[in-house]
Amino acid sequence: MKLELSEKFKRAVPVLDELEKHGYQAFFVGGSVRDAILGRLINDIDITTDATPSEMKEIFKTADHYAGEKHGTDLVFFQHENYEITTFRVDGQYLDNRHPDKVFFTRKLVDDLARRDFTINAFAMNQQGQVFDYFDGLTDLANQTIKTVGEADQRFSEDALRILRAFRFSSQLNFAIDPSTLAAAGDMKANLQTIAVERIYSEFTKLLSGTNPGRSLSQMFQIGIVNFLPGHQLLESTQGVFTNYPGSGQSEDAVNWVKFIYLSHLKSNKLVHYLKQWKMSRHLETQILASINFLSKKDIDNLDLYEIGKTIHIALRAVPRPDSQQLLDRFANLPMHKDNELQLDGQDLMTLKIPKGPVYGQILSDLKNKVLLSEIKNTREILLEEALHDYSDLGTIEK
Ligand code: ATP
Ligand code: MG
Repeated sequence: MKLELSEKFKRAVPVLDELEKHGYQAFFVGGSVRDAILGRLINDIDITTDATPSEMKEIFKTADHYAGEKHGTDLVFFQHENYEITTFRVDGQYLDNRHPDKVFFTRKLVDDLARRDFTINAFAMNQQGQVFDYFDGLTDLANQTIKTVGEADQRFSEDALRILRAFRFSSQLNFAIDPSTLAAAGDMKANLQTIAVERIYSEFTKLLSGTNPGRSLSQMFQIGIVNFLPGHQLLESTQGVFTNYPGSGQSEDAVNWVKFIYLSHLKSNKLVHYLKQWKMSRHLETQILASINFLSKKDIDNLDLYEIGKTIHIALRAVPRPDSQQLLDRFANLPMHKDNELQLDGQDLMTLKIPKGPVYGQILSDLKNKVLLSEIKNTREILLEEALHDYSDLGTIEK
């Protein structure tokens, strides 16, 4: 098969040229070639070569080009793009189901492609657009199938993360997992215990944002893989969310996570603990907490709308409700959206001769709530008057 290179690939051709000029082989590889064949949008372009990291360093050594080496992968800049260039390799024995204990470099492209996870991820393409397909990946692409390169049992026992990656690609591409690969995923699932949560999180997040998360989740339920996901013991029952997952993700991560967690039956008061198990970013955690808290309220008043703030867009995209538009309109029309929009501050309270203290915070928050509930207008004059009044209510004013 020969492809017409897209602009993005063409911009990377000088990198291949540079390696070839020095007598090395160089190819585009992995996901970008798969996506090019499928006509999908391409993420990063990865490159593979038989030049070793130190040979590459010689070639790309200027600071403009070279950003260092990690585990046999060099990061090279070229005309404002980053490229990861990895030396052809065969992985040594896998000891902990994740990290090959040794990496051996090889001069043969086919050896490098053989260590890749799935046949549809094991393509290489040269700068003329010629595709190299040693493992029948094209057939599997045509049949929309996820199949390991080589024996699935062995490939999953080498690296159990591949089990989750199978479900991730199945969801993203809307491809079915080949029956023998699926069976091996079930056999090897216990090895997922050895995989770092961060890696599981990353694959699972991509799974949730795919076009068909429902099929992946229900298969993961059927073969018991859900019992190896972080926090699974905090769910009442995994059946509901995993077998009837509605619609597609294809949205931002926060929206997909809120949807997933809203539909999961978490044991009561376990939300914070559950999120911690996934080791996600603090920012995402906060968005999920605010959204779930908001979505579980029956009557939503202006204080709730103010409290959730802009995260309302995430919450309502994740779990649309009949009154979504009305809630969004009410949110847009709130008298204020940020604390500093209150037309009165601590300075003003001082001019009222109110002695400084924690009571300031209380008064300002009280005033803010009244403004939000449209009990008073957000003007300085009215707020000053109300502050005095509030303060006397607290019984500490000196008249
Ligand atoms: P994406 O579009 O999400 O980046 P991708 O196919 O490029 O998808 P990456 O995780 O970026 O996936 O990995 C790049 C390539 O490296 C894969 O296409 C595959 O060939 C290989 N690869 C990645 N992870 C593994 C793994 N755990 N085992 C074997 N090969 C892997
Ligand atoms: Mg990639």
